[in-house]
Amino acid sequence: MRQSSLFTKTTKEISKEEESLNAKLLLRGGFINKEMAGVYSFLPLGFAVLKKIEDIVRKEMKNVMEAQEVLMPAIHPLKNYEVTGRDKIDVLFHTKLNGGGDLVMGQSHEEIVVPLFKKFISSYKDLPQGIFQIQSKFRNELRAKSGILRGREFLMKDLYSFHTDNDCFDSYYKRAEESYHNIYKKLLIGDKTYFTYASGGSFSKYSHEFQTLSDAGEDQIYLCEDCVIAINKEIIDDTKNCPRCGKKGDNLKVEKSIEVGNIFPLGSRFSDSFNLTYKDMNGKERPVIMGCYGIGISRAMGAIVEILSDDKGIVWPKSIAPFSVHLISLGEDEEAEKVYNLLKKEGVEVLFDDRDKGAGEKFAESDLIGIPYRMVVSKKTLEKEAVEIKKREEKEVEIIKVNEIVNYAKENI
Ligand code: ATP
Ligand code: MG
Repeated sequence: MRQSSLFTKTTKEISKEEESLNAKLLLRGGFINKEMAGVYSFLPLGFAVLKKIEDIVRKEMKNVMEAQEVLMPAIHPLKNYEVTGRDKIDVLFHTKLNGGGDLVMGQSHEEIVVPLFKKFISSYKDLPQGIFQIQSKFRNELRAKSGILRGREFLMKDLYSFHTDNDCFDSYYKRAEESYHNIYKKLLIGDKTYFTYASGGSFSKYSHEFQTLSDAGEDQIYLCEDCVIAINKEIIDDTKNCPRCGKKGDNLKVEKSIEVGNIFPLGSRFSDSFNLTYKDMNGKERPVIMGCYGIGISRAMGAIVEILSDDKGIVWPKSIAPFSVHLISLGEDEEAEKVYNLLKKEGVEVLFDDRDKGAGEKFAESDLIGIPYRMVVSKKTLEKEAVEIKKREEKEVEIIKVNEIVNYAKENI
């Protein structure tokens, strides 16, 4: 894409009220626009990143978790929440139908997915099943000062699994744990993301969170460096020590972290509410055992910005960068255009800075936007029939001949 036709522009002027690093960088780069506290538009560059995170998560859900994708509604009847007793939770946005009838905005989808499954599940032969969606959630969060880490409207992947018994559930839950680790590795935050024990509610001792170390985090975890796991501060009082090796809480390291996902054993908590049962082999009615598994898609994007940026701007991982190459013409538009076309023909995603601006400004903007490869075409590089290539996170440049660009792209980008 030509940068001259991109409708967004980078800006230095953002509201002084903006506290969080992820919001500052994403607003300055033109990735997002703030509509009100906790509510953002995702603009072309930001939307491209979001879609790439979605794709990584979607592939794992389909291929590894063998789950089917659906799209459930964003407005829900309040009466379903009365059935589960969640009608009084504080984050619910309430609204009404014109003709009467209370509605809430979807903050999670147990109240929709369980009645839905009741229509299709009757026998043990119908189980197990997993379904997921990637969809906007609405929560009246008290504080929304962490940029896209805590939205009042935000994008979540939610998966729900349905099983005949605990053994079947346990193996699926274990698979989800591995799959989540894969996802965070692909997003380049794997080395900072810890499998964390959290309180489980009434149906199981623990649920589990995936917590990514960051000073921007609103959570605190106790790290057991021997086991490479953590315990959420909220449960450490009950547990007192590492649930794996028993190491004393006093010897665990306390760190700030961002909850980028969680997996939760639901037991028959929601099946009981809606009487979701199946007939076992002997024809006996039994409750369906469930799990739910969330990933904050937009929060993950914010976490990546927090963790991988430097003093010049964002440093996107290749896997989710809005473009692979930022091609910059310094007054050599015709030659740069040739490189643009060569790369495009190879299927490389290129943002082509064809604007009439100085080198300093173009480079600073390029660093802010954070595309993994910067390629410069200038009078100086053309004297060598070459382009200058620099990786976003490195200082050194490489000079590559124009007729070698395609090979370079095939091998590296
Ligand atoms: P938190 O404790 O941070 O409020 P939660 O326990 O309410 O999170 P869930 O309801 O389980 O989270 O949602 C699943 C995932 O969705 C979380 O792990 C997180 O990554 C993401 N998430 C939750 N709330 C928000 C929010 N307000 N904005 C962005 N992402 C969120
Ligand atoms: Mg919450």
